[in-house]
Amino acid sequence: MLHIHKKAAAIDNSNIEDVLDAPGLLRQQAYIDGSWTSSNKTITVTNPADGSVLGTVPNLGDDKANQAIEAANKAFPAWSKMLAKDRAIILRRWADLMRKNKDDLALIMTLEQGKPLAESLGEIEYAASFFEWFGEEGKRAYGDTIPSHLQGSKMIVSKQPVGVAAAITPWNFPSAMITRKAGAALAAGCTIVVRPASETPFSALALAVLAEEAGVPKGVFSVITGDAIEISRTLCDSPIVRKISFTGSTEVGRILLEQASGNVKKMSMELGGHAPFIVFEDCDLDKAVKGAIGAKFATTGQDCLAVNRLYVHESIYDAFTKKYVAATKALKLGNGLEKDMDLGPLMNEKAVAKCEAHVADALNKGAKLLCGGARDAQGNLFYQATVLGDVTPDMDIYREETFGPVAPLIKFSDETDVIKAANDTIYGLAAYLYSDNIRRCHRVSDALEYGMVGVNTPKFTGASIPFGGVKQSGLGREGGHEGLSDYMETKYVCLGDLDSE
Ligand code: NAP
Repeated sequence: MLHIHKKAAAIDNSNIEDVLDAPGLLRQQAYIDGSWTSSNKTITVTNPADGSVLGTVPNLGDDKANQAIEAANKAFPAWSKMLAKDRAIILRRWADLMRKNKDDLALIMTLEQGKPLAESLGEIEYAASFFEWFGEEGKRAYGDTIPSHLQGSKMIVSKQPVGVAAAITPWNFPSAMITRKAGAALAAGCTIVVRPASETPFSALALAVLAEEAGVPKGVFSVITGDAIEISRTLCDSPIVRKISFTGSTEVGRILLEQASGNVKKMSMELGGHAPFIVFEDCDLDKAVKGAIGAKFATTGQDCLAVNRLYVHESIYDAFTKKYVAATKALKLGNGLEKDMDLGPLMNEKAVAKCEAHVADALNKGAKLLCGGARDAQGNLFYQATVLGDVTPDMDIYREETFGPVAPLIKFSDETDVIKAANDTIYGLAAYLYSDNIRRCHRVSDALEYGMVGVNTPKFTGASIPFGGVKQSGLGREGGHEGLSDYMETKYVCLGDLDSE
């Protein structure tokens, strides 16, 4: 950490490339068909901590999107025929290069996304783990033989890559949301076109620099920057693209599902969440407080897994609240480049405005402001870590995803009621519960209508788990063997007439 803090302290916005050990990682061009591509039209990328300009990327449209798709299609036959073990070697090399350059990658991420450096470093390791894990898993994409129901026949089921894939990714995890998709796609034998969020393209382009160095063949992995609507429509309309994986809001997910229906593609959707966090009276209170801090304030609350409703049993509500507010007040908010920060700026004005609107609405309807509740003096995009008490179902924050550092506390008295309340949402991504009663832990986690449940822990993600939600939080899973299957088709072959000479 020492080296990275020295480098972070030396950054003054005009000298970023001088500070990086590998200045070439900060690319201001898109990467299409193995070539670096520029344009007269550009998108400006800024640092959310101070609004300073970090650079630009090309503002590309449908012609370049089609070029990337054609290149992926051309590269597909050779890549899909390569042995899985050889694809794994390339993916492993790519992961190793990410680790070797982790300080630079983390600095680039903090500069464009705002998250504290420790979180950026954590994300780089998490992101690299997908290349490593999927490379290995690709070797185990087993099929089946089926005991025949037809005389003289043999029935074989195998897995084949779906073809050209596309990924549309958000700004909150600028590296991991790409590697979670590209790692699975490439390990399965697919080629992929990635369209990163406009706010955080540099992390994506740095991955492309390392892809080239790792020996990923041209056309197998392209990164196209530019107009979200035009590029996404081109990806959806193209009959060549056989699979789209999207991470982002439920609202945009719905649009993409509709657009892609024209040529019936495989779709994976990792959408919004509204996580309940249930603190039962029989839990370890200190662990619950610590868990609820992590589950709410990681990534400054801009996380689809972030707690959006904190249900606390009435018998411990006051004790929990006191400790939780104290722990929240102790969190350090500041420029993510500075040492030991817990929270950074939010991504954009829209994100801050949403926090303000949720807090104002809750206070109008009778919630209590227990700490925070305003923009911070450090800058326009800094919003204070906030706790609201006595939140009720009529408040907007109870139903809508805040995607910011605001924790709403809700009192409950009965297990059946709290399960019902926790499930009363269109979302179903992640839920959390704290209890020391093992029977209750099983009973409640079974009853929660969520794709993922953290029991006595705020941390449960990783390359080997099936990440994803139910209801309007998504379709499909990323990570785990399910994540690999999402990039594969099942092929059934029946060999008949085998009894003949
Ligand atoms: P977003 O507005 O849905 O944007 C996601 C991506 O879609 C960006 O690349 C964006 O491009 C693009 N996009 C925006 N409007 C589009 C349109 N009309 N057509 C096609 N593409 C479009 O979401 P966000 O604000 O970046 O991220 C926050 C949301 O993502 C939250 O709801 C969160 O819960 C969800 N999320 C879910 C997961 C998960 O795994 N389930 C993980 C992270 C985030 P531009 O950048 O150019 O706008």
